[in-house]
Amino acid sequence: MNQSKQLNRKKLPLFLFILIALFAFNLTPASVAENEETDLLEGELTIHGVYLSQQFDDEHKIIQKELTEYSYSAILELRIYYYKLDLFRDNPSTIKNYGATTMTQVVAGSNKISGDGADLSSGTNKIRPMICSMKSDTWQRNWENKLIHVRQASGSGSLDYGHVNLHISMVPGPGGYIYRVTARTGWGTAPFIRKDVPRAKTKIWDEQEKRWREETMKSGLIPPDYHPLNEVKFEYETEPGKKIFFATITNTKVLEDFLKKPDGSVSFPINAGYQVKQDSNESDLRIQGSLVLRGKRKPVEAMMTPPEGFEKWMPQADAAENTPGNGFKVDVKIHVKDQPEEEPTQTAKFKFELIGTSKEKGICNNYPVNGNTGDFDLKISKEANPELTVSEDGQSAESKAELKYSGVYLNAYDWGAYGKLKITAVLDDGQEVIAYIEGNKEKRQLKIPADENDNYVADAWEKEKGIFEKNYGPDWDDDSQPAGQRRNGDGYTLYEEYRGFQTKAGYSRTSPLKKDLFIYDPDELVKQYYEPYNPAKLELHYIDPTMMKFSGEARNPENRWVNCNSVKFNYARQYAIFVKRWTTMEGGTAGEANWITSTDGLNDIDPYKGFEQPLKSIYIIKISPPVIERSLRGIKDPDLRQRTFQLLMASTVIHEIGHGLGIKHHADGKIETDESVIVGVFNCSMRYNTPAEYAHPELLKPQLRFCGKGEKWKRPAERKDKDGNTEYYFEEFNSHNCFGQLDVKSDP
Ligand SMILES: [Zn+2]
Ligand SMILES: [Zn+2]
Repeated sequence: MNQSKQLNRKKLPLFLFILIALFAFNLTPASVAENEETDLLEGELTIHGVYLSQQFDDEHKIIQKELTEYSYSAILELRIYYYKLDLFRDNPSTIKNYGATTMTQVVAGSNKISGDGADLSSGTNKIRPMICSMKSDTWQRNWENKLIHVRQASGSGSLDYGHVNLHISMVPGPGGYIYRVTARTGWGTAPFIRKDVPRAKTKIWDEQEKRWREETMKSGLIPPDYHPLNEVKFEYETEPGKKIFFATITNTKVLEDFLKKPDGSVSFPINAGYQVKQDSNESDLRIQGSLVLRGKRKPVEAMMTPPEGFEKWMPQADAAENTPGNGFKVDVKIHVKDQPEEEPTQTAKFKFELIGTSKEKGICNNYPVNGNTGDFDLKISKEANPELTVSEDGQSAESKAELKYSGVYLNAYDWGAYGKLKITAVLDDGQEVIAYIEGNKEKRQLKIPADENDNYVADAWEKEKGIFEKNYGPDWDDDSQPAGQRRNGDGYTLYEEYRGFQTKAGYSRTSPLKKDLFIYDPDELVKQYYEPYNPAKLELHYIDPTMMKFSGEARNPENRWVNCNSVKFNYARQYAIFVKRWTTMEGGTAGEANWITSTDGLNDIDPYKGFEQPLKSIYIIKISPPVIERSLRGIKDPDLRQRTFQLLMASTVIHEIGHGLGIKHHADGKIETDESVIVGVFNCSMRYNTPAEYAHPELLKPQLRFCGKGEKWKRPAERKDKDGNTEYYFEEFNSHNCFGQLDVKSDP
C-alpha cells in the first residue's frame, strides 16, 4: 500500500466543516472581559460528497477504482464574540503591531451529537473527528462497465472533535483597510477532546481568546459600529500545515446582516471540489452541501434602577423657576429574561419619557408670585444628560443606539414636582421593551417621588408627618390642631401643605395637621405683640408682597392671596392677615379690623357679616400706637405709662387679630354699647376695658388671650332677700368662647 492511498483513505470520512462568524460590536474594553460571549446561533451543516479515486501501477494501469459517497449533517451551536476593531480603522498606523495572526479572533462551533456511528464516547484523548456510519460497502459497475468498490456512508457528528476557528485580518484594500474573514477547519490539529465539555469552550480557546483580548485591550481599542465582511472561506486541511481552500461563501452581505440581527434563518450553498493527479493516484472530490443558520437570541427584558434611598427623595426647587433643583439618576439596562446579571446579545436605544408631569406655577404655592404656567416641574435637562438627545420641553430623551445600558438624570423645578418615568428599550431588531422597576416586575412606570398611595405627595413626607397610613387624598384639608375652633382645616390642601411656602424665614413645607396662618406684618406689630402669646395657637408664617399677590386694594379678590401659584389640588384662595401701623384713626380708635361687605362701601362696621370667612373679607388690621400713646398722656409715672402702653398695645393687637380670625365682641349678639362690650371673661382680649380700668391704669390686668369653652365669668349683682333687703352677690355666666369662633379657612 502506498503512501498516498493511505492518506486519501484516511481522510475521506473525516470531512469537517465549520461555520463561523464574527461580528464586531460596541463594547467598552472593560466590558469586553465580562461580556464577550453568548449563545446566539444554531446551525445545520449538510454535506454530500462524492470521491472517486484510481490507483495505478507502474505502467499506469488502473489497479483499483474506488467510489465513495458520503453524506453528513451536523447541528452546530455557535457563539459570536464581540470585539472592537475600530481603532485600526480610525488609525491604520496601529495595524503595524497587529498582523493577521495576532489579530485573529477565534469563534468555534459546537454541536449536538446524534446518529449512528457518531461514536464519540469510546476512545481516549485520541482525535476522533466525525465518523460516518457505513450504509453500504459494495462493488458496482461503473460507466466503463467495470467493477468498482462503492462505499456509502452517512452520519452526524461533532465539531468538538475538530479544530475550528475563524481569522479576521485587516488588510489594505481599496479605499482603506478591509477585513478578511476566513473560517478554517481541520482535524489534524484539533487539540481538545473532552466528553464533559461538549461545547467548544476549551483550553486552546481560552488561551487564544485571552491573548487576543489582552493584546487588543492593551491598545485601548474603541468599538466599531460596522465591519464589512468581505469573504468567508472554508479551508480543508489535508494534513497539518497543508491546506487547500475549497469553499467560499461570497454573499457575505447576507451573512453580515444576519449576524447583526440573528433572527430567522439564512442559508448558504456550499460547492467545492479538488483533484489530485499523481503518477500512482488520481482522485476527484466533489462536495455539495448547505449551511443553514438560525437565530437563537434569548428574550430580553429591560430593568430600571432608581438610586439608593430613592424612597426618601423629595423634590427641591432652586430659587428660580427655570434653574434645576435637586435630582437623581435612574439607571437602565437590558438583560436576558429572568437573568438580571446576564447581558444579552441585543443592543438597544433607550427612550426616556416623563408622563403626567406636574405643571404647577412657580416653585411652591406662593413663590415667585408671577409664576410661569405650563412649565414642567420635572425635567430631563440637556446639561445633566450630555449623553442623551433631549427634547425641547425636557419631557423625553433618547440615548444613542447599540447600548446595553444607559441612564437618565432628572431634576426637580418645583417643591411639589411629580411625574412618572417610563423607559423603553428599542432593541436592534426593532422590538420595544418597556423597562420594569428593579424589585418589581409588575411596575413599569416609576412614580416620582415615591408615592405608593397615589396622592401625588411624597410618601417620605407623609411618613415623616405620621399620616402615611391614612392615605389622604391630595385635596384633603382637615387639620385638627388646634382643636376646639370653629372648624378643622386651614384651607390649604394636603398637596399644598406638602408643596410648601416661601416665607421670610425661608422655604418650608407646612404641617397637614396644624392650621397655618400667613401674616404680612411690615411693622412687626404681630411679631412684637402677638407672637409671644399666640393665643389662637396657630402656626405663624411671616411673608411679604413677594410671597403673595398683594395689590393693597380692599376689593381685589387677589389681594393678600397666598396660594396664588396653586393650580391643581387647590380648594380655594387663602389669604394672609395684613397688620399695619396707622398714625391716626377716625374716632380715636386704637385698632381696627376693616372688612369688605357685599353691599356697602369700605370700612363698614358690620361685624356680623365679615366674620363668616374672616381672612377673606377682613383686608387690613390697623393699629395706632400714637392713639394709645395720646390716651396715656395723663399718666405721670413714666414706668406705669410704659407698662400700660405695652399692655394696651398687646391687647389691642390681639383683639384686632381676634377679629381678623373671626371673633366677635362679647356682646352676646346684642347691639353693641359701651356696656355690652365690657362683659365677659376678664382677661380675654376681646373684652373692652371698663371706664374704671381707664381711670386706674395701675389696676389694668393683661388681656393676652381668648376666652374658651367651659370658662365662667362673674359680675357683681344685687337681689332682694326674702325679707326684701338688697343682697349683693356674684352672678356667674358662661364665657363667650372667643377661641371657639376662630376660623382661618376661606371657602371658594
Ligand atoms: Zn373690637
Ligand atoms: Zn372672649
